[in-house]
Amino acid sequence: AGKVEFRDVHFSYDPNRKILKGISFDVPAGKTVAIVGPSGAGKSTISRLLFRFYDIQGGKILIDGEDIRDVTQESLRAAIGMVPQDTVLFNDTIAYNIRYGRIDASEEDVRKAAELAQIGPFIERLPDGYRSMVGERGLKLSGGEKQRVAIARTILKAPPILMLDEATSALDSHTEQEIQAALDLVSQGRTTIVIAHRLSTVISADEIIVLQDGQIAERGTHAALMRKA
Ligand code: ADP
Ligand code: ADP
Repeated sequence: AGKVEFRDVHFSYDPNRKILKGISFDVPAGKTVAIVGPSGAGKSTISRLLFRFYDIQGGKILIDGEDIRDVTQESLRAAIGMVPQDTVLFNDTIAYNIRYGRIDASEEDVRKAAELAQIGPFIERLPDGYRSMVGERGLKLSGGEKQRVAIARTILKAPPILMLDEATSALDSHTEQEIQAALDLVSQGRTTIVIAHRLSTVISADEIIVLQDGQIAERGTHAALMRKA
């Protein structure tokens, strides 16, 4: 389960400027499609539309053949996991931050998810910028550690669909590789949409879509796109 389809999707935030001008693509269940393109091309808009933060003006977005307009916001959120560029942590323990979205999860499952994401040791601490009731300062997490919290959250949530929106682009290249490896594990067997700036970071995607000015300029595997270039 988890097939995603965009069919001739048209969208603008305001009437006199079209952002998506008829975008069509399929992400078969369990496969990975990458969306690359310059800043402002409309990549993150695609992610917002899948969550139905906005309604589209033309076309259809389907999950497992069902129009997302007919899906409740609740089940949409349950179906899609999101790792954004910068994970914002709430004023509560890191364990709570991992549990967010699966409040019913057992402590044991939270701990396991944290260990898999390699953020295990300090999950009872608060994040940076917060102070506990006994005056203990929040723990300063690096960008990579914050992404590990988001990854642990996704492991626990285990959604059929995963949206990675520039999830590694704020990291230095060494950390980027580590987090990329963790994301590769999480995306195994899940329908995954990867939004990225550069073609070089999405080599293993089943299909790459190059978005330019709200339209699909090119599409294919990494190898095929490299042959054309
Ligand atoms: P990308 O992710 O490819 O950088 P976005 O999808 O974020 O691009 O944005 C596409 C275009 O839509 C940009 O020109 C951006 O300025 C515009 N845009 C994004 N969000 C809004 C908004 N809430 N209201 C109006 N315009 C927006
Ligand atoms: P959950 O954390 O359980 O996945 P949320 O209630 O946080 O669900 O909402 C769904 C997702 O939408 C979140 O993961 C959040 O990161 C993401 N999100 C929030 N704002 C935006 C945005 N402007 N564009 C794309 N995704 C967003």
